[in-house]
Amino acid sequence: MHLCDLAPEYIRTITPYAPGKPISELAREMGLKENSIIKLASNENPLGASPLALEAMTQELNKVMRYPDGSGFNLKTALSKIHKVNSDQVLLGNGSNDVLEIAARIFLRPGASAIYSQHAFAIYPLIVQAAGGNGVSVPAKNFGHDLDAMLDAITPDTRIIFIANPNNPTGTFLAAADLLRFLKRVSLDILVVLDEAYHEYLPEASKFNTIAWLEHFPNLLITRTFSKAYGMAGIRIGFGLTHNDISDLINRVRQPFNINSIGLAGAVAALRDTEFVRRSCALNQAGMLQIITGLRHLGIEYIPSYGNFLSFCVKRGDAAPVYQNLLKQGIIVRPIGIYAMPRHLRVTIGLESENEKFLQALQNIV
Ligand SMILES: *Cc1c(COP(=O)(O)O)cnc(C)c1O
Repeated sequence: MHLCDLAPEYIRTITPYAPGKPISELAREMGLKENSIIKLASNENPLGASPLALEAMTQELNKVMRYPDGSGFNLKTALSKIHKVNSDQVLLGNGSNDVLEIAARIFLRPGASAIYSQHAFAIYPLIVQAAGGNGVSVPAKNFGHDLDAMLDAITPDTRIIFIANPNNPTGTFLAAADLLRFLKRVSLDILVVLDEAYHEYLPEASKFNTIAWLEHFPNLLITRTFSKAYGMAGIRIGFGLTHNDISDLINRVRQPFNINSIGLAGAVAALRDTEFVRRSCALNQAGMLQIITGLRHLGIEYIPSYGNFLSFCVKRGDAAPVYQNLLKQGIIVRPIGIYAMPRHLRVTIGLESENEKFLQALQNIV
């Protein structure tokens, strides 16, 4: 028998994650110049990263022969002060996906299951399957999480429930009161993962301090990231906030140096630059309005979004031809067929000029 055939079936049948198309790849395929291509495919920050973070990371380059501080002392201290938790409640990851994946590995195994919503972040089914667990996808309500249906889906073998708030790729958002009511009804022996990758983009009126809930829910894990509003997706730093007992388990399983020294330095500096995040959110708000207005003008339906992206519906069936046509015009958006949304495309809110070119390209098609 071939070695690979001896790998568990749940590993051999994983469908690999399909990331947004890289600019360099499209340039090669279409013979386009890289700087003529607009990538609005991966919810990246069009403003780049904070100048303070860039400076700190540049300084740190001089020390790359050293291993990073595996405990992430400075970053954990900064995060614990900002979020008013003990620093041993802070978990650092190689992106927040790392924290999610370790949690899945710890609590799942063949025979255990995890619940997530239909159209929820694609990483959840992937990491559940990779851990040998059984993924239970609960039908969405208006493209968002149906919390009551998710409660009904709980069985004795449920170990994790994943909730993305706001959700990617739908941009839907659950109000704090609904989430709290849900949490109160979930048994404490089930881990509830609250993935808040887009938290910073929420309008002030919708922001709620879910971190204060950690005191009451020892089974809660909140994850956030430097990849989105902080504009640092390439350096891979995310974090989790949870109960000590859970962070203790995760710290046993994570690699001792799962966070790199450049990222640590950049993230600490980024936290000091609140002005940069404020500017990023303001740009996002204006760009969201610009794109919504443009889509309405073209008669294109969309799902109202609380993130830095928007999913819109390509009426005449499959969205693939529209995606391909946009590619030909040098614009990369994200097909979301793997999210069971083959008629939708997701566009990341870009700079005003990028949004304009996207809308123009779309107009050329419809
Ligand atoms: C982008 C995203 C993340 C963050 O991933 P990183 O690993 O931190 O880059 C997590 N959850 C959701 C829903 C996301 O869209």
